[in-house]
Amino acid sequence: MSEPRRRGLLVILSSPSGAGKSTLSRRLLEVDPEVSFSISATTRPPRPGEVEGRDYLFRSRREFDDMVDAGQMLEHAEVFGNRYGTPRAPVEAAIGEGRDVLFDVDWQGGQQIRGSVLGESVVSIFILPPSIAELESRLRARGQDSDDVVAGRMQKSRDEISHWAEYDYVLVNENLAQAEEELRAIIAAERLRRERRPELVGLVRRLNREFEEGST
Ligand code: GDP
Ligand code: ADP
Repeated sequence: MSEPRRRGLLVILSSPSGAGKSTLSRRLLEVDPEVSFSISATTRPPRPGEVEGRDYLFRSRREFDDMVDAGQMLEHAEVFGNRYGTPRAPVEAAIGEGRDVLFDVDWQGGQQIRGSVLGESVVSIFILPPSIAELESRLRARGQDSDDVVAGRMQKSRDEISHWAEYDYVLVNENLAQAEEELRAIIAAERLRRERRPELVGLVRRLNREFEEGST
């Protein structure tokens, strides 16, 4: 019989827009081959530089609603007047292979994934900006949204931040290198949790056998 595999983690990253979720996700994915990114579907138009199938699945409202009606979404929500959702099949496939999945979702997505059948594998992390002025300046520096869109996102930030206490961990993304190191430390520790390591039952059994066979 083959050894049971390590159970994959569902790592949820949420933050107000501009706090650094995408940047931190990208950096983590570059250095950790065990993590796959959950590519959300959205009805929002692509930003310059965003790639279909890498950053998002860009869909019409009609196509999005069809996916929801067909039960293909693990969760979905309306954010900034657009629809966003997590396709279920790739998440189930990755978890089945013992891989970790990273989700960039808002607090509504976080609540729904925590409440799903996969909830016990969830590790949720909230990212705070060091200040509101810095948050706004990062959104502007990103240079991909109009003034109106930036203003709308700033208004929603307060709402998003009000959910910070629902998360297992909180990072303050002031220094990017430090926030990245902290994110990797959380994932490293969560992978080592005893209840997620059924593969160790075999080792403990062998250690006991060795005790019995040995003279100690
Ligand atoms: P961002 O805030 O700059 O990342 O702008 P986006 O338009 O890419 O995302 C807007 C919000 O939607 C962010 O809070 C994302 O975390 C959230 N979001 C992205 N994908 C999903 C999803 O599949 N489900 C949910 N519930 N939220 C999502
Ligand atoms: P989110 O995905 O949360 O909306 P992004 O990752 O797109 O945020 O980050 C918003 C902007 O802030 C980007 O231009 C990014 O390069 C920049 N940024 C992210 N983290 C930091 C940081 N620690 N210090 C300075 N700028 C940052």
